[in-house]
Amino acid sequence: MIQNFTNISRPTINPLLPLTKFSLNSKFVLSFSRTMQSSNGARAAQAVQQVPGFGSEEMERIAEQTFKRYTFDGVPQRKGKGVAIVWFRNDLRILDNEVLYKAWVSSEAVLPVYCVDPRLFGTTYYFGFPKTGALRAQFLIDSLADLKRNLVKRGLNLLIQHGKPEQILPSLAQTYGVHTVYAQKETCSEELKIERLVSRNLQKVVLQSPEGVSTNYNVKNCTKLELMWGCSMYHIDDLPFGCTSLPDVYTQFRKSVESKSVIRSCIKVPASLGPPPNVEDWGHVPELAYLGLQSQMASKGMAFVGGESAALSRVHEYFWKKDLLRTYKVTRNGMLGPDYSTKFSPWLASGSLSPRFIYEEVKRYEKQRESNDSTYWVLFELIWRDYFRFLSIKQGNSLFHAGGPRKVQTNWSQDRALFDAWRDGQTGYPLIDANMKELSSTGFMSNRGRQIVCSFLVRDMGIDWRMGAEWFETCLLDYDPCSNYGNWTYGAGVGNDPREDRYFSIPKQAQNYDPEGEFVAYWLPQLRALPKEKRHFPGMLYIKPIVALKFGNTKPMNNKATASGTRRMATQENKWKSQKGNRIQ
Ligand SMILES: Cc1cc2nc3c(=O)[nH]c(=O)nc-3n(C[C@H](O)[C@H](O)[C@H](O)COP(=O)(O)OP(=O)(O)OC[C@H]3O[C@@H](n4cnc5c(N)ncnc54)[C@H](O)[C@@H]3O)c2cc1C
Repeated sequence: MIQNFTNISRPTINPLLPLTKFSLNSKFVLSFSRTMQSSNGARAAQAVQQVPGFGSEEMERIAEQTFKRYTFDGVPQRKGKGVAIVWFRNDLRILDNEVLYKAWVSSEAVLPVYCVDPRLFGTTYYFGFPKTGALRAQFLIDSLADLKRNLVKRGLNLLIQHGKPEQILPSLAQTYGVHTVYAQKETCSEELKIERLVSRNLQKVVLQSPEGVSTNYNVKNCTKLELMWGCSMYHIDDLPFGCTSLPDVYTQFRKSVESKSVIRSCIKVPASLGPPPNVEDWGHVPELAYLGLQSQMASKGMAFVGGESAALSRVHEYFWKKDLLRTYKVTRNGMLGPDYSTKFSPWLASGSLSPRFIYEEVKRYEKQRESNDSTYWVLFELIWRDYFRFLSIKQGNSLFHAGGPRKVQTNWSQDRALFDAWRDGQTGYPLIDANMKELSSTGFMSNRGRQIVCSFLVRDMGIDWRMGAEWFETCLLDYDPCSNYGNWTYGAGVGNDPREDRYFSIPKQAQNYDPEGEFVAYWLPQLRALPKEKRHFPGMLYIKPIVALKFGNTKPMNNKATASGTRRMATQENKWKSQKGNRIQ
């Protein structure tokens, strides 16, 4: 049954109350950091760094200015008839949204719809973790609220309904006589299955013909589902090869698209998208408790604001206000604070931000300020994102299998105690523990951190990489199946390119990326009192390491210990390298 939120009473947020019908039955309580309500809220708010660092009015202003630059100068042609639905999925934006534009052009009225699918709040495939943690759920809630506001400003609205798209969309199509449902094409199995079900059920819709005669199961007179590409910087139709013959090596892919493909321009927005069809009740943006999740205050780290207005503001902040694009390539491997990297990923994953818009902003910056390695490197990283997206088409479900696309046979352990220590940041290695604590309390972890904790889980602990990937799926604000499972398969050595098989040595990584121990002391304040050189290997002053490192010592990083540890590591490293031609980072 399809329900609007307005018709449903919502439970108050109380951890002791039984949760709603969509409750997770979960032992994991994930933190939610944006609402500061406690008596020490002011102190907590000081420690939390909001991303982007603007107030809501400022974000609204930046978004409006950006929209203005991307609004049609003249009046675009609208020749369509009847009603078209925009089924919003991971494309929660107005700017550069081809789905929205196509629906608008091909109709007299657009009905924008978002379905809060209960499957999104179920559990992960193999290990039963919450599929969407509270932080990403809140980010989604923010995104929907912002999208609704921005659509209303342009003469439309957002119909929010709770249920499965394959039930909601045909029912709406029937009620409003919709000729086409437009949506962004996805590439992974869960999303593809829903596309198939929606398409099948739309074929059963009984549409009134112009003469008023209803026709059932008539393919010509039922609602169509039109899926459109929209999530990558390079359009799938512009690739120099089909996805099934995608190069197995990233560099080959990158060089090929850079030399042979052109990035399409962003789609501009009509100033007015109305009128909407006559909808009695547009529904409400859900609250966290309704989704069966509890909010919890975080006292430090980053708090991301969901939605397109925040996304456009973050681009403005990183490129133009703080001028951080100029130095991105040298800062991008940092771990502490909002500014070492762009932090665009949560908005890219929910589709509040278009990668083509980032591309155009990079080009504008290069024209107006400076063009250097750093400005190029943001695009280099976005091509990685594209690559993982296209790989997911080539690899299909092997992306989610233990052996990965290369079907590598490994005897992974699923030792729950070891995994729990990793998940909870209790391994005895401050670099791992600090990163894992950041993940569960903010929903974010740096790229450097992700590579290190992944390597530790699979190579030092020998744990099934899918447990790590599913925990990331629960927690990450920027969770996206292609990038997440793509990176995990690389990290576990089961990805399509064996050359990406790397071991991240904790002593080396600590030395290179957190030499003063500032990052670990931030997340593990008990280490702050220690001399900086002891923070990564505090010995008896911290939890006992849960496993020994495969290569390298676990002793304090004073010069003597590091020297002998490095020697021992070097011998073991050579063995590893000669065995598999792999690399130690
Ligand atoms: C084990 C593991 C799991 C990951 N899971 C995800 C995930 O679920 N979703 C996700 O978006 N990224 C994932 N990444 C990639 C990367 O860590 C994040 O995209 C990046 O840390 C986001 O921070 P940023 O936006 O500041 O990145 P920046 O350094 O500013 O990069 C700019 C953009 O480039 C893209 N990008 C950068 N590195 C990668 C990469 N290795 N793979 C794909 N895209 C990249 C992202 O869209 C990012 O926003 C994962 C990496 C690892 C090692």
